[in-house]
Amino acid sequence: MIPLARPLLGAEERDAVVAVLESGMLAAGARVEAFEREFAEATGVRHAIAVSSGTAALYVALQAHGVGPGDEVITTPFTFGATANVVLALGARAVFVDIEPDTFNLDPAQVEAAITPHTRAIIPVHLYGHPAELRALTRIADQHGLALIEDACQAHAALYHGRAVGTFGTGCYSFYPTKNMTTGEGGMITTDSDEIAELARAHRNHGQRYGRYLYDVVGLNWRMTDLAAAIGSVQLRKLPAWTARRRANAARLTAGVRGVIAPVERAGCAHVYHQYTVRVPDGQRNLFAAELVKEGVSNGIYYPLPLHRTPLYRQGQEGWDDRFPNADNAAAEVLSLPVHPALSDEDVAAVIAAVNRVADRLGLTGGCA
Ligand SMILES: *Cc1c(COP(=O)(O)O)cnc(C)c1O
Repeated sequence: MIPLARPLLGAEERDAVVAVLESGMLAAGARVEAFEREFAEATGVRHAIAVSSGTAALYVALQAHGVGPGDEVITTPFTFGATANVVLALGARAVFVDIEPDTFNLDPAQVEAAITPHTRAIIPVHLYGHPAELRALTRIADQHGLALIEDACQAHAALYHGRAVGTFGTGCYSFYPTKNMTTGEGGMITTDSDEIAELARAHRNHGQRYGRYLYDVVGLNWRMTDLAAAIGSVQLRKLPAWTARRRANAARLTAGVRGVIAPVERAGCAHVYHQYTVRVPDGQRNLFAAELVKEGVSNGIYYPLPLHRTPLYRQGQEGWDDRFPNADNAAAEVLSLPVHPALSDEDVAAVIAAVNRVADRLGLTGGCA
């Protein structure tokens, strides 16, 4: 079976962890500071603040921007739950708007229409590794005085007009094992603002903004360990080659597959293919997925249920039935195929051949978006 994801961990990661173990210093220390400096430099941003997960990054970033009870945060319903769960966890309201059908990302025109006097922040998600429309979103955030919190958990090193995502607003990254790079569990916040960086560091570490035991804001413990950071530094050095391999695999898939609608890459955007996600038309997606498994190709559905259709978010979403048709259509049609850098050339060829056999069997003839 060709797997959908596989973390690449080698001797360098092992040696880095052993060195930390032998030092006896396991919690946040010199390794975390080094990883933060390296990540900031690689991303092209002033500050990087390491935390214990992507979820922690989103939570702490919202706290640093002062999001709390009574606030509204505009985001997409077509994402992983963490994007919106952090909003509820802070006592604020998640306001969904629909996505663009081609990139699956937040539609800026709909964001503008959803702004109220209570709106405090916008969270675009660079879904599957394709940048959201950051020019329009930055303009809207600036005009209305809103925080722009970028959920870049799937988009390490993705570029929007030559600049890394996560540098337009406050960036939030995840290093979960299936992401484009990993630390086991881990996350990072990026910002050019000295004040947001200081607040994020305080919220990450018990709210101790001005010194030890000087609690100033409601902070908890969201720190990364030196063990995780040591892995992260090694993975970060390998990321450019892995990204190039993901993009090369995606180009081959797009040139080779028939019967499904291949993902787009908008002009000015560098997609990093956290997922290579096609659309399967004609209500055949679930059957297509099952047939592909029989052909030896693992695949995934991200996400089968948009958040507005989950029990938690149906509360307070009266009239949601036809509000987000693009998210509903995407949830019914998307299918992610293996694209990760551990695939051999033969694996990629096997994925293409399997997709085309299944498409032929199911009588699918489409191809272009
Ligand atoms: C993975 C992911 C998260 C959460 O990251 P964790 O490190 O698993 O907490 C948040 N948002 C998106 C879009 C993700 O893919």
